[in-house]
Amino acid sequence: MIFVLRQKKQDLPFDLNRKMNVAYINLCTEAEGPYKRMAIWFQGCNLLCEGCCNPELQPISPAHIMTIKEIVDIAIESKGKNGIEGVTFLGGEPTLQSNIKYLISELKDRNIGTIMFTGRGLEEIDEEIVKNLDLIVDGRFDKNQIDTERNLVGSRNQKIINVTDRYKNIDSWFLNKRDKMVEINICQRESLLITGDML
Ligand code: SF4
Repeated sequence: MIFVLRQKKQDLPFDLNRKMNVAYINLCTEAEGPYKRMAIWFQGCNLLCEGCCNPELQPISPAHIMTIKEIVDIAIESKGKNGIEGVTFLGGEPTLQSNIKYLISELKDRNIGTIMFTGRGLEEIDEEIVKNLDLIVDGRFDKNQIDTERNLVGSRNQKIINVTDRYKNIDSWFLNKRDKMVEINICQRESLLITGDML
C-alpha cells in the first residue's frame, strides 16, 4: 500500500515507452472497486467540476512521469505479491492521458481487470479507450446530486457501465452502500494517501 515513483529510462519497444503523468499509485486496496486492486490516480483534469474531491489533481503539470512498461510491471508485481485482480484508474481525468488506451490494452493482455472513473460521459470517450475496459463510471461530478447510495460514485447522474461481463455479477459492490470504507496509507514522502469512500 505504498506510493511508488520510478523514472528509469529503459530500452523498450516504442509503445511501452510512451509516457503517463501519474499522481499516486496504491499497490493494493480494497477501497477502489471490487476485489483487491491497484489504484492509479492520474494528474490533470480540465473538467473543473465544482466541489471536486481531488482539486490537487486538476493542474495539468508534470507529477511523476512514468512509462507504460513501468506501470505494467508494477501491476504484475502487485498481482504476484498482493493478489490484485485488477487496476482502477482515477484522477484527475484518466482520459486526458493520451496513452491510456495502450496501458489498458497491455493490462487486458495480462488478464488484469480494468475500471475507470471518468468525468467524461461515455459518449465523449474515444472508442479505443472504451473497448478494452471492463467497467466505467462516467460523467461530471454534480455537487447538487450527491450520491449517498452507491459506493465510490460521487453524484447520482454518474452511470456504472459494464463494458464486459467481468464485473457484471458483482454490481452489488457499487450498489450496496457499505459501512465507511476508508484506507489510510503512508506514502514514501511521509504524506498521507487516503483512499476510499468517505461520505
Ligand atoms: S472530472 Fe473528477 S477530477 Fe475532474 S474536476 Fe470533475 S470531479 Fe474533479
